[in-house]
Amino acid sequence: MRALILSDIHANLEALRAVIDDASSRGGFDVLWCLGDLVGYGPDPVPCLSLVRSHSFVAVAGNHDYASVGKMSVDAFNYAAKAAANWTTGQLSQSDVDFLSGLPLVANHEPFTMVHGSLRDPLEEYLLDADAAEASLKLLATRFLLVGHSHFPFLCLENESTPQFVEFTEDAVLPLTEQRWIINPGSTGQPRDRDPRSSYAIYDDQDATIERHRVEYDIEGTQSKMQEAHLPEYLIERLKFGI
Ligand code: ZN
Repeated sequence: MRALILSDIHANLEALRAVIDDASSRGGFDVLWCLGDLVGYGPDPVPCLSLVRSHSFVAVAGNHDYASVGKMSVDAFNYAAKAAANWTTGQLSQSDVDFLSGLPLVANHEPFTMVHGSLRDPLEEYLLDADAAEASLKLLATRFLLVGHSHFPFLCLENESTPQFVEFTEDAVLPLTEQRWIINPGSTGQPRDRDPRSSYAIYDDQDATIERHRVEYDIEGTQSKMQEAHLPEYLIERLKFGI
């Protein structure tokens, strides 16, 4: 079984298609694992939901998913995120609303647990430091934790002392050992690590490996759809820079 691991698609259809095509050319995949924020920011929430749902998939809720269906307040969102969330709400059909509202906060597929933010705060915590990593490792009942939300790819290794963040090297095929890891595949639809290419990972259960890749997509195509939808300029611009 091979799982295509995606996070933070953010309604970016060009990016999602590019990732699916790239993963298909690298041995393919049997199931999609989505770590939340399928919608929000981008211009294609409905086509992205349809494309994910056309595959066998497991998905957990992100803050933008719940915000777009009123299951979470947008008070903590900045101006651009709020405007995009309101626009997204207007695009969704009742079936999309039901789907997004029904997404669980946490999902399991041995030896992985999946969550958007962190185990102590599934929707809102950015798991980016040792303290946050330690808290989630304490709550983790499986060997590996898959997270998104920060849009930064990384591996975090459990140690006897403090958890250690290391680079999730592009194109390296990493053997999964007995050690417990927290893994962020990076963002498909709105990378923020100063590399505008889409990021994703593939898990292979036969080889017991995980690997991460980047792929270019039609950024200008996404940007012009965002212009047409009158989404905030800042959200349009940032895609070009990966910030
Ligand atoms: Zn996100």
